[in-house]
Amino acid sequence: MALLPIVIYPDPRLEQVSEVITDINDELRTLVADMVETLYASDGVGLAAVQIGALKRIFVLDPTFAGGTKADPALVFINPEIVFTEGKIKEEEGCLSLPGVFIPVERFAKSRVRASNLAGETFELEGTGLLSRAFQHELDHLDGNLTIMKIGGIRRRLALRKLRTPEEE
Ligand SMILES: [Zn+2]
Repeated sequence: MALLPIVIYPDPRLEQVSEVITDINDELRTLVADMVETLYASDGVGLAAVQIGALKRIFVLDPTFAGGTKADPALVFINPEIVFTEGKIKEEEGCLSLPGVFIPVERFAKSRVRASNLAGETFELEGTGLLSRAFQHELDHLDGNLTIMKIGGIRRRLALRKLRTPEEE
């Protein structure tokens, strides 16, 4: 396992669409282990593969946001898709790739994700609140979308003034 640097805005990789995963192999298992280690070291809710520079359709989430404990394994979502949504809610949202920047984003209040786990089994998980928000935020990363793209002009420039470089942390 390795702790990897997080890709920070405006790195162009963050705006690329990640590739569908066709094979669950040792390389992918190593990537997931690195993602989990990096997520926990950075105190985030979730992390998409692109955030450590791998353009693969996979994200990991802290299990405590799905009703588990820190001792549970991180939740791994391979080739995820949203299959159900309900309601809308707008709240401020942060991103490990936009340190210091918080942007109000409207998300589905409730959503259900279908994905594959590392054993290659398909599963579904439904979430409300922060978990539902995390599903949508991480899926956005896989399609090259960032919270900062959801606002424009002066609001975006003002929000980006708060962006901290890793050296300032
Ligand atoms: Zn993010």
